[in-house]
Amino acid sequence: MNRPPVLDIDLNERLHVDVGAFCNNNCIFCMEDDRQGRFDRVSNVTPEQVRTILQANCHRREVMFVSGEPTLNPEFLRYVRWAREAGFQSIGVISNGRRFSYEPFATRAVAAGLNLVIVSIHGSEPRIHDGLTRTPGAFDQALAGLRNLAELARKQPLRIHTSTVLNRRNATQERIESLLALLRPLARQMVFNVMQPFGRGQAHFDSLMMRYRDTAQVLGTFFARHAGEELPIYLVDIPYCTTEGCGIPDNVRGYVERYVHFERDSGDSGALGRRPRGQPIRSGGAEVKLRVLEPHDSTRQPPDGLVVRHRDLLEQARKSKRPECARCAYDPLCDGVWNNYIERFGFEEFVPVETGITPQER
Ligand code: SF4
Repeated sequence: MNRPPVLDIDLNERLHVDVGAFCNNNCIFCMEDDRQGRFDRVSNVTPEQVRTILQANCHRREVMFVSGEPTLNPEFLRYVRWAREAGFQSIGVISNGRRFSYEPFATRAVAAGLNLVIVSIHGSEPRIHDGLTRTPGAFDQALAGLRNLAELARKQPLRIHTSTVLNRRNATQERIESLLALLRPLARQMVFNVMQPFGRGQAHFDSLMMRYRDTAQVLGTFFARHAGEELPIYLVDIPYCTTEGCGIPDNVRGYVERYVHFERDSGDSGALGRRPRGQPIRSGGAEVKLRVLEPHDSTRQPPDGLVVRHRDLLEQARKSKRPECARCAYDPLCDGVWNNYIERFGFEEFVPVETGITPQER
């Protein structure tokens, strides 16, 4: 244990630039439930502000274009070019992959400087993927997009990753096996995200959300079946204690990405809505005593009219740890557990991983 996860991405804080005001998928677990709010927030950031954000953050290694479906933004290719001109080494997009099914668009995007594409794909067949995205035809287009990108990656420095939200419909041995068979020839890295209990993820919590320990068991069994193989699979956004000792290699579990983004200052407390810090939560009818997590410091000034949002800051107001976490070897690395999760499932699966080493000795 305690080996830091090794991922094919920068572990420093990335720049996220929200450019997708809308999306042509309709995922059942999407965290961005407030479609109108997203449209207002993203479409109010001007191209000039995007350029300023890129130039002001070129000290970072990595930029990702995110939110909604970024490739539907008519300025997308121009933004990619600006990112290259600003000097970012890694220029990426988190996409549903559908627009890359148009080969000329995929070619133009890579020629503009795009060198990382993370395609969200949630099943190995239309029945599962189209069901979860609630969009007939989404699977076929995403797969065609992946194939176009894989062809381009044979000749150019393009990394293709996939992202899969694990849930009760797709996280069986058989379905993960099928996904691996489908994606291994196309993607360098397959990231499995645990579902986040927000937005639609909260609305469909009871039918879709798996306990972390069950997810860990499924993946642990999967890795055991593939013992000796180098699997391109990573399990992220899951507390380390729930995957401890379950057979998932240390270097592929638990990583939580860090990013910063900028958005129009609307005077609210954050794009996703937050519980006031320190507000008690209830689980199993009882009030849970929690540690208040201290936010990381933010120093950079955003461009005029925008506010800075660090993932750490957004999430720490919505996550908690139990007092016993102070004994856990992962405490310095762990961002805590979503309050919404604790309210439904309680805290009993989060058992500190004790090593006999004091926090001062770590
Ligand atoms: S600090 Fe707490 S929640 Fe985090 S891994 Fe350790 S026991 Fe789990």
